[in-house]
Amino acid sequence: RKGNVIITGASSGLGLATAKSLAESGKWNVIMACRDFLKTEKAAQSVGMSKENYTIMHLDLASLDSVRQFVETFRRSNLPLDVLVCNAAIYMPNAKTPTFTADGFEMGVGVNHLGHFLLSRLLVEDMVKSDYPSKRLVIVGSITGNTNTLAGNIPPKANLGDLRGLAGGMTGQNGSSMIDGGEFWGAKAYKDSKICNMLTMQEFHRRYHEDTGITFSSLYPGCIATTGLFREHIPLFRTLFPPFQKYITKGYVSETEAGNRLAQVVADPSLTKSGVYWSWNKTAASFENQLSQEASDVDKARKVWDLSEKLVGLA
Ligand code: NDP
Repeated sequence: RKGNVIITGASSGLGLATAKSLAESGKWNVIMACRDFLKTEKAAQSVGMSKENYTIMHLDLASLDSVRQFVETFRRSNLPLDVLVCNAAIYMPNAKTPTFTADGFEMGVGVNHLGHFLLSRLLVEDMVKSDYPSKRLVIVGSITGNTNTLAGNIPPKANLGDLRGLAGGMTGQNGSSMIDGGEFWGAKAYKDSKICNMLTMQEFHRRYHEDTGITFSSLYPGCIATTGLFREHIPLFRTLFPPFQKYITKGYVSETEAGNRLAQVVADPSLTKSGVYWSWNKTAASFENQLSQEASDVDKARKVWDLSEKLVGLA
């Protein structure tokens, strides 16, 4: 049978390119989990995906109710779940004040981390039941959260501190809207959320891999300077960023190439090792990358997991 893969945020950028790559292989039914049904349908058609290879299901990660409803809808489809890709993200570098999810969490961490945390915690139970030979849970990471790299050291740096803001729910009401308890900074909220994504992947690996055989992985797909992620940036930035990445940092990858990379992490028989953060070198070969000290801190991973469980109502 075909594999079933859920991809969040498949309506544009990396998620769409990955959906297209997997659909074209003819081996996958892609469940595109998106907040805008019409946009997603148009996107799938615009890249030439054929109807028998995809299904669209509604998911708004800025609402825990929507996450739970998505899981119910998926379960009613009676499809086995073989691979889950947590890809969607929001990046608001210019926001002067925080915005909040339906549950009152700061939007960046609420969508990128907490929505995905609940989704993956619920769906891992479905994956356990699938008979697929190589089941995988992929959480897209980023170099920007990695302070052991050049890009990861461009201010503001990611830093979760002692997690006091996360413990307080990042509501901004009786304290901070940031994980570390500091002042709101949109670009930092994104980087912090990516650290949480990478910590969550490793904690999943420690808690579930041995018993379930599921492969847990993360990746840095390269700098895809053309995606909608930068839509909130000033126009001058959006004009200069792609050539800057192409010719100066040479970190640029096309959406198609990045989609093929994520598709490898989903399906390639050689990428089955669990607990790995994948990257690609200049010759486009994959390798196991090192995470920054904070992004591989075992104690912090456990604390983020426990606090996140409380915030999404699992504990
Ligand atoms: P895009 O902005 O193109 O795609 C983001 C996707 O997330 C869109 O489909 C968007 O939906 C979706 N999304 C946003 N908010 C929500 C929500 N509340 N509920 C459901 N879906 C939502 O960005 P990219 O393709 O660049 O980003 C994809 C991933 O790649 C992210 O995890 C990002 O961190 C990572 N990444 C990107 C890099 C880059 O250079 N671009 C580099 C490293 C990592 P909608 O279409 O409705 O807005």
